[in-house]
Amino acid sequence: MAAKKTPQQAGGNASGITRQARPKQPGSTRQEGGNRLASAQQRGRNAPGPLPDESGTPAASGAEEGGKLSDDAITIAWLRRMMTDFVRERRWEKYHIPRNLAASVSVEAGELLELFQWLTPEEAAKRAKKDPAFRKAVGEEMCDVMMYCISLANAMDLPVAQTIAAKMAKNRAKYPPERFYGHYERPLS
Ligand SMILES: [Mg+2]
Repeated sequence: MAAKKTPQQAGGNASGITRQARPKQPGSTRQEGGNRLASAQQRGRNAPGPLPDESGTPAASGAEEGGKLSDDAITIAWLRRMMTDFVRERRWEKYHIPRNLAASVSVEAGELLELFQWLTPEEAAKRAKKDPAFRKAVGEEMCDVMMYCISLANAMDLPVAQTIAAKMAKNRAKYPPERFYGHYERPLS
């Protein structure tokens, strides 16, 4: 019978962040294009494309569209690995633990809401549509929320797509269209 592996041997670490899609050598994400692509391919068939370079542009990953990142090309797995590597490169695993990440999601959600504080619904709608500086600020806080959620999924090894699908199934059952079509009421049970 094989000896039980330690979390590190099994590909995990103390914070619970999986090493499944990580480079074997620290700092390998600094490798240039071809080496980086080869490393990504070695990490397995489920590994997402190469990491973005310093400008945030994915290198030779097929994730570019007209020189910009495309929502159609970037996967949740790609985002998960981006956050895993961001944390690992700074040795921040000790900070990116479930309690801290849940708190950080709430903090960043507060920063997002602060941008809308004191605006009327009409003012908010207008700035959300036509004010470039406002749109940029909202986007950055939205990203803070989303990336902390991704890091929380990493720290807890939660399957994001399955979790979303399961919760949406629950929401569909809770809010059947024939009862909630065009309006909302708080369900009593
Ligand atoms: Mg923020």
